[in-house]
Amino acid sequence: AQGAATLRARAEIDLGAVRDNVRALRAHAPGAALMAVVKSDGYGHGALPCARAAVEAGATWLGTATPQEALALRAGAGLPDDIRIMCWLWTPGGPWQAAIEADLDVSVSAMWALAEVTDAARRAGRPARVQLKADTGLGRGGCQPGPDWAELVGTALRAEHEGLLRITGLWSHFACADEPGHPSIAAQLTVFREMTSYARERGARPEVTHLANSPATLTLPESHFDLVRTGIALYGISPSPELGTPADHGLRPAMTLSASLALVKHVPGGHGVSYGHHYTTPGETTLGLVPLGYADGVPRHASSTGPVLVDGKWRTVAGRIAMDQFVVDLGGDEPAAGSRAVLFGPGDHGEPTAEDWAQAAGTIAYEIVTRIGARVPRVYV
Ligand code: PLP
Repeated sequence: AQGAATLRARAEIDLGAVRDNVRALRAHAPGAALMAVVKSDGYGHGALPCARAAVEAGATWLGTATPQEALALRAGAGLPDDIRIMCWLWTPGGPWQAAIEADLDVSVSAMWALAEVTDAARRAGRPARVQLKADTGLGRGGCQPGPDWAELVGTALRAEHEGLLRITGLWSHFACADEPGHPSIAAQLTVFREMTSYARERGARPEVTHLANSPATLTLPESHFDLVRTGIALYGISPSPELGTPADHGLRPAMTLSASLALVKHVPGGHGVSYGHHYTTPGETTLGLVPLGYADGVPRHASSTGPVLVDGKWRTVAGRIAMDQFVVDLGGDEPAAGSRAVLFGPGDHGEPTAEDWAQAAGTIAYEIVTRIGARVPRVYV
C-alpha cells in the first residue's frame, strides 16, 4: 500500500473530531438519545469508521437513507447488537425481510409499505420494528395528516395487535430548521404534536418520537423530544452560514482534502489556462497542477473561484476545473512538485473550509463533502 505522504490526493478524516462532535451534540441535547446519520457513506467521510467513532462517543442510534446502507452497517461495522439502526428511504419490493432479520428500524409512510413490511414479518416469523413517518410540513416523504394518517396508524395498530410489528417510533423531518425564526418551524412542531398525540390516543406506545436534524439540535431545544438525528454537525460542519461557524457550536470539521502538486512550471504572461482559456496569466508566473477534478467531486462550478492553500498562501483555481485536475496560479512562487495543496480542512492552519468551497461553487457544504469521489482515498487519523 502507498504511504499517505505519497498519495496523489487524500481525504484525511479525523475520527477524534467525530467523537468530540458527538459529545458536543449530546451536550446540546442532554435529554435526548443521539442518532448519528451516516447515510451517503457518512456524508463522504466513510460510514463504517464514523459509525464506530460515533458509537464510542455515545451515539445509540445510527440512521441511513437506504436499507442497503443500513444492512451494510449491521453486517460490517462490528457494532454492539443493541445499537439501533434506522433507515427511511424505501421503494416497493425493498429488502423488508432482511431488514427485519437484521433488527433494523424501518420507516413507513404509506399503506403500500405497511402491507409489504407485514408480509415480510409473516415470512420472517417475527415482528418488524416500524417507525411511522409523518409529513408535518416538509412536503417530501411522510404521511399526510388527516385521513391518511388515521388509516396508517389504525392499520399499523391492528398489525401490532397481531404480533406482526411494533410501532417503535413516530417521527418527522424539518423543512427550514436552518433558517432561524422561519414560520414553518413552529407550524411543524404544532402538527408533530397533534399527529403523535393522535397516535398515542389510539394506543400507540412508541419508544421514541423525533424531529430534530442538526440545525434543530443546535438551535431548537423544544424540538429535541426523545432523540435527535444529527448528520452534518457530526462531521463538524455548520448546517448553514446563518447559524454561524462550527466553532460557535463547539464543533470541529473532520475532513481535510488535499493533493500533491503534480507539476510546477513557468509560463509567460498572456498564457491561456485550461479548457476554454477562461483564465489568462496577467504576467510571467508559475502554475501548479492539482491532481483533483470534478470526477473526484471538486465542483466544476468553482472554476475560477475555488480557494486552495499552497505554501501558506491562498490561491484561486485558475480557469476551468477538469475531470481529473485543475490549475492554480502560484504568482511566481516555486514550491516543489509534490508540495501539498489543501482544498479544505478545519481552517485552523489557514486553509479554506468546506463552507468556503460551498460559497465558491454556489452550493451547500453538505454537497461539497458528500460528493468527494471514491477515487480519493480516505485516510483515518
Ligand atoms: N433526518 C433525515 C430524515 C435526513 O434525511 C437527514 C439528512 O438530510 C438528517 C436527519 C440529518 O440532517 P442534518 O445533516 O442536517 O443533520
